[in-house]
Amino acid sequence: MYRTDTSECHKSSGSRLSRESGSLSYPVEVRIGSPSFAGGRAPTGLGQVEYRLARDSVVRDFHKGRLSRIDVCDAQRELLRVAEHLGHETEIDCPICEEAHLVHVTFAFGPGLPPSGRALGHNREIVGLARANPDASFYIVEVCRQCSWNHLVRMFTAAAARRRPLS
Ligand SMILES: [Zn+2]
Repeated sequence: MYRTDTSECHKSSGSRLSRESGSLSYPVEVRIGSPSFAGGRAPTGLGQVEYRLARDSVVRDFHKGRLSRIDVCDAQRELLRVAEHLGHETEIDCPICEEAHLVHVTFAFGPGLPPSGRALGHNREIVGLARANPDASFYIVEVCRQCSWNHLVRMFTAAAARRRPLS
């Protein structure tokens, strides 16, 4: 099993999106790798963490044969369902199957929100929730509906979300 996680805040759950409490474990059971290795943590600006390096590392390991499709294409049915209904299709090809465009799904976690997070469709929902709930955190997950690849792309705080343009 692949395990690169050395981050302080995701230690308890291996590669899964989860905090110490385990309260963020569902439905975004998604691979996050380590946000802290190779300088990958928060280089992008205030209140935002990019997981691109961790994601690319997993993709590299897959293409080198260190990880199998079973290891990396394990999106839960609920995550696939949310991706189908609330996801935003991107122009990015799936790095694993290369047969479909990736879909981005945003989840919000925080006080007053379901322990499993709330899936959000439009950017204005994100901004509205960020204004109403300054302690919320937002996670963007990329999902392939073809092969079930999934990985965390970005985390941002409510303060960062409020700076996003409405769309
Ligand atoms: Zn795919």
